[in-house]
Amino acid sequence: MKKWSTFIFTFFAALLFLFPGFNHKVSATTLNDIPAGSSSEISYLLDKGVIKGYPGNLFLPNQYVTRDEAATMIGRALGLDGTQRATIFPDVGKDSYASGYIQSAVEKNIIGGYSDGRFGPKDKITRGHMAFLLQRAFNLTEGSNITFIDVPKSSAEYTAIDQITTAGLSNGYADGSFKPALPVTREQFSLFVARGLNKDFRVSFLGQPIKEASVNVESWDVLNVRSGPSSDYAKVGSLKAGTKVSVYRYEGDWAYISSGSIIGYVNSYYLSTPTKGHVIAIDPGHGGSDPGAIGIGGMLEKELNLSVGLKVESLLKNMGIEVVMTRRTDTYPTLTERVNIAVNGKADAFLSIHGNKFNAESANGTETYYSTASVRSEDSKQLATFVQNRLYPALGTTNRGVKTANYTVIYSTPLPSALVELGFISNTSDASKLASDTYRNKAAEAIALGIQDYYNWKK
Ligand code: ZN
Repeated sequence: MKKWSTFIFTFFAALLFLFPGFNHKVSATTLNDIPAGSSSEISYLLDKGVIKGYPGNLFLPNQYVTRDEAATMIGRALGLDGTQRATIFPDVGKDSYASGYIQSAVEKNIIGGYSDGRFGPKDKITRGHMAFLLQRAFNLTEGSNITFIDVPKSSAEYTAIDQITTAGLSNGYADGSFKPALPVTREQFSLFVARGLNKDFRVSFLGQPIKEASVNVESWDVLNVRSGPSSDYAKVGSLKAGTKVSVYRYEGDWAYISSGSIIGYVNSYYLSTPTKGHVIAIDPGHGGSDPGAIGIGGMLEKELNLSVGLKVESLLKNMGIEVVMTRRTDTYPTLTERVNIAVNGKADAFLSIHGNKFNAESANGTETYYSTASVRSEDSKQLATFVQNRLYPALGTTNRGVKTANYTVIYSTPLPSALVELGFISNTSDASKLASDTYRNKAAEAIALGIQDYYNWKK
């Protein structure tokens, strides 16, 4: 009898060893393929029973997570009721192993189905959808204007991705992208959920620094590092004159930096950067006493130009391109002053931003000008073309093409230069787009990408 019970014990122990998925207490050390860099987080989830192994002692870190698996892991992580039952989805019956967690997550407004009413349980969950799921599951509400090169602020996923990154659940890819359309692997999903559950696993969003800089204050002075992008935020450290810092992104005038163990925001005015990269002058047309065109609904061209120009500025800075602004507020530098600001600021190209107007309401569309008289007319034409070709598709406006004209700011300048007319603020369709922040973001993204195209072409 004793022998028999030993056999049974050995048999079940072997079974548990072979099929770790049966035992939620299994520890990561018994699985063969846990990636070393993620072992703490994965062990934590295995111990909590949030995630399970596969037969053969495997974790399968690179396997993609399906939507029903995602709902199950989140359900276990949050301790939701997983009792199998009917769901609101026609394609998730109560026999589905995940039906309880899916229905509980729906009831808690953590997860939703497709617009056609299906849930798509066996579809792979994308990183963008995962961001929504995590943001709701862990009730994240704070964002910090984080910039990923492939997540425009106008995209539906932007807010959720910003919030999960701000909370330290994700920090994107090292190249500054988030890749929202890619499916999520088990390893990635485990990291995100572990960080959601346990603050000790959370990460700081740093990514790749966009540049190195040094602290430029008087030798006896220090530069305060703060927890947020204004002097209202708490001081988290201070840096001596000349200290080297890595800059990760800009939020307005503030730079998010690290220096040794200090991470936070500094006023970018006090950073000096070796000018080795590209410097573009952005000129928001008109300003101050000169409103420019006045469009439908009283839209002032000067305000449109400045709003888009400032958005272009921060996008470019986050791409590592230096920017000289001819104005950052509602003021009027003369046309000659604008050219001088660009030249004195060591700009290597110049882009003026405008909105168009015509007597006939029907006139509409986007166009970009360069001057054939400029000594750099070939470069100017390329700059105009790259910007135009990004801009009209982004705005969905009529392509009026690249044109030539001798406007002062693009004619009397030694720099390759172009002048973009975003659209007609005298046309109902163009004006309604240009009045919206969403389209202004699209315009700014397109212009920034066009400028980047131009610099890539110059290389
Ligand atoms: Zn204008």
